[in-house]
Amino acid sequence: MSTVKWKKHQILGSGSFGTVHVASPSNEPNSTNVVAVKSASFPHSDSLKMETNFLYELRGCPEIVQCFGDDISVENNNEVYNVILEFAPGGTLSDLINIPGKMSERLVAFYTRMILKGLSNIHELFVHCDIKPGNILVFPMKDGTNHLKIADFGLAKDVGVEIDSYRGTLVYSSPESVEFGVLETSTDIWSLGCIVIEMITGEKIWKNISKQELINEIVRGEPIIPQNISDIAKDFLQRCLAKERQKRWTADKLLYHPFIVDNLVKVA
Ligand code: ADP
Ligand code: MG
Ligand code: MG
Repeated sequence: MSTVKWKKHQILGSGSFGTVHVASPSNEPNSTNVVAVKSASFPHSDSLKMETNFLYELRGCPEIVQCFGDDISVENNNEVYNVILEFAPGGTLSDLINIPGKMSERLVAFYTRMILKGLSNIHELFVHCDIKPGNILVFPMKDGTNHLKIADFGLAKDVGVEIDSYRGTLVYSSPESVEFGVLETSTDIWSLGCIVIEMITGEKIWKNISKQELINEIVRGEPIIPQNISDIAKDFLQRCLAKERQKRWTADKLLYHPFIVDNLVKVA
């Protein structure tokens, strides 16, 4: 339990489970100390508590959003469970992708390396199951670069534990998760491949198709690797987007792929 009570301000995001607000300490109205508070009431509070446990276990990793604590408040006679998170002033990777103009491959490699570092830590114990631009937070740094952190462990699970149904966000989902509900670390790597394509081209891997067509493409189609990119970027994408999950590289191995290693400079 955290000791400071937080006053909620504007909404940063909301889903079917609850809401994320910017908040500041209620006893210091003019404080510049801001946090993000993710809240849910029963029954969604149970899954938010599980999400908090994942965050606690991953505490200290620089590429995973930090959790400062949790508390319970009463709002409109309802008990609300709150998780206090560090606030990301730069929004999410979706916002960076939506900035007009193409990201250079260098910049994409710089961002991808941070996501891989986060995944490398997560995959020691867990599968995230919902890797996508909207779940990657952006922290602008003094030197003009952005630092990325993985957030939203609402669908995460332990490595090796079978679950009986599909979960995730369809466009970023791997063939085996959609077809058989198999969600292992290789699933997150497929999603990473989808994100890298989106960063490089500005467009989603699968476009303008109905849900049924999308399921069909993911399960039976071949992901299209963009042609007008460097050979090492193409090779990196093939290692992420292998249809057979056993052929996909791990996060640890991808960190040493030439696409990452040859682009090792900070890019603003
Ligand atoms: P959901 O499970 O509903 O997807 P998320 O944890 O992904 O919840 O949060 C929803 C949205 O709220 C995110 O996409 C992001 O825009 C915003 N958000 C979440 N956490 C933070 C944070 N720590 N700092 C800033 N914005 C955040
Ligand atoms: Mg989310
Ligand atoms: Mg979620």
